[in-house]
Amino acid sequence: MKRIVSMLVLLSLVLVSCEAQTSQPNVKKNTMSEAKKPGNPVYSKTDSSKVNMSEEEWKKILPSDVYYIARQKGTERPWTSKFEKFDEVGTYYCAACGNALFKSDTKFDSGCGWPSFYEPISKGSIIYTPDNSHGMQRTEVQCGRCKAHLGHVFEDGPPPTGLRYCINGVILDFEKAKETEKKFNEKKG
Ligand SMILES: [Zn+2]
Repeated sequence: MKRIVSMLVLLSLVLVSCEAQTSQPNVKKNTMSEAKKPGNPVYSKTDSSKVNMSEEEWKKILPSDVYYIARQKGTERPWTSKFEKFDEVGTYYCAACGNALFKSDTKFDSGCGWPSFYEPISKGSIIYTPDNSHGMQRTEVQCGRCKAHLGHVFEDGPPPTGLRYCINGVILDFEKAKETEKKFNEKKG
């Protein structure tokens, strides 16, 4: 009798553990937030703390085309970005770190071959540095959080700023505005 009871206890334990195992995949739904990027530990749309990483580390976590623009100050070929002709309402983020950079309502069709904006989303979202390479005097714009190279800013943009932020589309992530946000902006405007 004692043996049967202990066997029953054992059996129920096995059943419980089986159940726990099989029910796990159902619980483990896709909880990956769109504010994160797989394989990129610094990417965040909410964390505004500065990112300081070695070039080797960046090389490991960024796709090669993003690394080329962001860390090697590369330039994508003109007319190649999907954002060049793109007029959805939303926000553009740094593709290397998730920092918010531009709002779609400051985007304009400059005809220069790269996505263009007349104003960044906030003062701190961008860093300005003089760039005297290629025999030109230009102002380079970098991400204010991770210092990724974004592009350049020129003084031939439209009102109200008169500026043209000429940005490589490869370094931009776009997130569509939510319906409520759209309505809020409509009311505000
Ligand atoms: Zn960044």
